[in-house]
Amino acid sequence: MRKMRTKPAHFHSSMRRTIKLKLLPTVFILLFALCACRGGWNDDAREAGTVPSASSISLHTEADFNNSLYTDASLVETDEAFLLCPRSGSELLMYFDKSALEASEAEPFGIMCGRPECTHHGSSCDAYFEDIGCSLALMNGRLYWVGRSKQGSEHPYAVYSADTDFTDKRLETELKFGYELQPQRICFHRGSAYIVSIMNSVGNGGEPLNNHKLVSCDLDTGEPKVLIDYNTVNALSEFTVRFKGSKVYYAEGLYVSGCDMRLYCYDTETEELEVLLSDCHTIETPAYMRIDDDGTVYMGDYGIPATLFKVLDGELVPIMEFEKYYRIHPFEKAVVGISFNDDKYYAWFRSYSGETLYKGILPTETIDGDPETFSAYWVCGDGEYIIVLYEASSNGPFYFVRYELADGKIRETLMGCAGNGF
Ligand SMILES: [Zn+2]
Repeated sequence: MRKMRTKPAHFHSSMRRTIKLKLLPTVFILLFALCACRGGWNDDAREAGTVPSASSISLHTEADFNNSLYTDASLVETDEAFLLCPRSGSELLMYFDKSALEASEAEPFGIMCGRPECTHHGSSCDAYFEDIGCSLALMNGRLYWVGRSKQGSEHPYAVYSADTDFTDKRLETELKFGYELQPQRICFHRGSAYIVSIMNSVGNGGEPLNNHKLVSCDLDTGEPKVLIDYNTVNALSEFTVRFKGSKVYYAEGLYVSGCDMRLYCYDTETEELEVLLSDCHTIETPAYMRIDDDGTVYMGDYGIPATLFKVLDGELVPIMEFEKYYRIHPFEKAVVGISFNDDKYYAWFRSYSGETLYKGILPTETIDGDPETFSAYWVCGDGEYIIVLYEASSNGPFYFVRYELADGKIRETLMGCAGNGF
């Protein structure tokens, strides 16, 4: 953490109010400035050669995707910190110092820029970060993500890398596809980028034409390979991706008199595509999924009662019931239900055998304002800890809050916050 300690944004963990008052206006101003000059940095910087290209290190790696941090945000865990950005797009990368989890005297979070003279305005800031499809990942000790290619390139997207302190940024390889793909989510796993592309268009007769693809791109060559490709007239409700060894699991729901869900499993070694679920109307959304070591797929739902399911012989079989209003997240180490009711958040941690590990209030002490004015945008984690992204509903800020379960008690830590409205 030597480099991070030199960063200009210093915060004391006991000064929550100060943190919020200081950081929020700063971030808002920065992001406003970013909007004003968006597009300028990439071209200027890369054409001027300040972003080195073509790393000598092969991108082929055995690094596995971190299923525990699958979320609609850029979120990665290094040895020293969590690096985070509330969502895809052009923003400033933030860090949360993991030593703050042990010692309350550390400065816990700030902007990922180490230059004391930097005012963190616009694209010249070292923390400037453009991440397509929330792709940020840690592989072989370096950060990787997908951003836009330099201007004039034949291909719109490219893979970039940087050191874990966000220095030594490099253009690694262009992803060799064009605008026929609309990346919604990109995950790095074992030497490939996996791209979920949802392309919505309208046919000659005015009918909707939606094309859904799952494409892998080799990271050494950038060459794409289509794994799943189909057209539908129905709108997408939600999709999710998980990885287990050589297998890629992709689930998606369509709005068809309720939800029509499919679950595919593609084996990258045998190149076989298996359909594990199709025309499944059991649950509302396939957003939350866990793959066990033996290949069992768990999915959660927020029905009444909320239920944990597993996939068995082409069907979703209920295996654990929760009370109504809980939304069920099957994580690696525990099943976690989150409920928002009576203006409060509640959490219910259970083992996969059904034992209750914690059931009670999910505190929101680190967040400014009424719980009524924000919503839990996304939840990820492993079940011993969870990270909740709270989003204020009225164009307010995002908050990353980490909860750790120990000795039957929940410990809340603010990991970072960022302004909205840009
Ligand atoms: Zn800066």
